[in-house]
Amino acid sequence: MRQEQRELQNVHPPDWRNPEPIGRYAMVIIGAGPAGMLTAMTAARMGAKVALIERSRFGGVWFNVGCISSKAIIRTSRLYAEMRNAEAFGAQVPTDISVAFPAVMERMRRVRAGISRRFSAQRLSSMGVDVYFGAARFAGPDAIEVEGKRLRFKRALVASGARPKLPSIPGIAAAGYLTNENVFELAECPRRLLVLGGGPLACELAQAFCRLGSQVSIVQNDPMFLGNEERDAAQILSDALARDGIDIHLSTDTINVRTEGNQKVVDLVRDDCKSTLTVDEIGIGIGRVPNVEGMNLEAAGVQYDKEVGILTNDYLQTSNPRIYAAGDVCSEKIFPHIEAAAADLVVRNALFWGRERLSALAIPWCTYTDPEIAHVGLYVTEARAKGIPVKTFTVMMHDVDRAITDGEDEGFVKIHVKEGTDKILGATVAASHAGEMISEISLAMNAGIGLSALARVNHPYPTQAQAIKMAADAYLATRHTPTRKWLYKQWLSH
Ligand SMILES: Cc1cc2nc3c(=O)[nH]c(=O)nc-3n(C[C@H](O)[C@H](O)[C@H](O)COP(=O)(O)OP(=O)(O)OC[C@H]3O[C@@H](n4cnc5c(N)ncnc54)[C@H](O)[C@@H]3O)c2cc1C
Repeated sequence: MRQEQRELQNVHPPDWRNPEPIGRYAMVIIGAGPAGMLTAMTAARMGAKVALIERSRFGGVWFNVGCISSKAIIRTSRLYAEMRNAEAFGAQVPTDISVAFPAVMERMRRVRAGISRRFSAQRLSSMGVDVYFGAARFAGPDAIEVEGKRLRFKRALVASGARPKLPSIPGIAAAGYLTNENVFELAECPRRLLVLGGGPLACELAQAFCRLGSQVSIVQNDPMFLGNEERDAAQILSDALARDGIDIHLSTDTINVRTEGNQKVVDLVRDDCKSTLTVDEIGIGIGRVPNVEGMNLEAAGVQYDKEVGILTNDYLQTSNPRIYAAGDVCSEKIFPHIEAAAADLVVRNALFWGRERLSALAIPWCTYTDPEIAHVGLYVTEARAKGIPVKTFTVMMHDVDRAITDGEDEGFVKIHVKEGTDKILGATVAASHAGEMISEISLAMNAGIGLSALARVNHPYPTQAQAIKMAADAYLATRHTPTRKWLYKQWLSH
């Protein structure tokens, strides 16, 4: 069976027959993206009778047109970047490295087909979840309709996700553009690509396509990339993109697009200075809008805002207390990959009288550029805004042995503690493997482990994660007050 057919058989089997609804489900879930699927699996494992409704393909954006596809491509693009830089590592490779773009996309599809087995409609069904294909619509405060069937519920979860936000630039619709919904179907790598946006998705896309051979320009109206991240982390990324050869336009507005033959001509303006870019494709990464339409949320008494999504409280409960919302559709999304945490939280709160708060969770996230930028907890500005005094411990990656031996010595680990204590408030890691490294700090925060305890954690030598221990050691050094030093001296002189 071809990969595409195998994948389709998992994510939307063509011959699927919807089951007959049972009397009343413990939970009915709209949307089989990560938020919906993980909640369905968790609830089913605990013995709840659950129905999961998907109008398109299991896996949602995450699997079909998002995370998995982009990470597979990023991996190959990193390999090409490393090959081009091979000489710096004492290796010899042909000077003319040509990118086999169709093979890159073929690998991405192979990776996807493999992963699709893990969360197929059949697998969910074999776990006891009633799987329905079709567009779901509320028929009242305790019922949902799909394909002519009425499903009654005690609790419901709306996890209908989000779609790309489109810019209102004159001429762009007629010229055509790429979003995450079609970029992974490209048969050829665009020779010249303009990326609009400066958040994680735009930066990942720009760097990956640049490394795969596109001549990439990136334009955004803010003065820095990754608007939410710490400034020095964003600067490291900006420098890395420039080193890759990306043409960067910050604080710049895109005011018009027109086509000339097969080319797209884009007018830009910065500080009243106009300029023009001519490209073959325009990729859009300016944000996401929640999927709130078409579900008749009004009939269920669920309040929403078209821009920010379904309004929830800290327990992920909507204005109808028996209906919850999670993932990208939810106004409380905050983190891109909050779905796993949200699934647990919704199951406990909705089915077991739990009172778990979203705000109590320390959830890390990462931008998968090279270097990666990862963060958990509070930023310094947030802590100060809350009136919490902050002390920061920073270790530069160029002081970390393994980062030096790997030629990956750009970046830093920064851990913020509440001043005068070792309570970790947050951390930013800018490093080649920041996404892996942040987990240790995230574990410490979730388990209430202070920074001094991290100094006692033995790391294998040499690893890049030793930077975390070095930051913790730096904290311990501040505890050696003159009095303590004097006491130690007295004791040791006996
Ligand atoms: C290019 C790209 C790269 C990304 N990379 C990462 C990453 O590296 N790490 C990370 O954590 N996140 C990443 N994300 C974000 C991540 O993909 C999303 O946060 C995640 O998919 C959100 O999951 P969700 O379940 O809320 O919604 P979705 O994945 O959007 O799923 C929602 C599902 O609901 C279905 N649906 C909608 N309306 C209805 C209806 N009325 N009836 C039935 N079904 C309906 C949709 O068809 C869809 O399948 C990336 C996103 C993009 C676009």
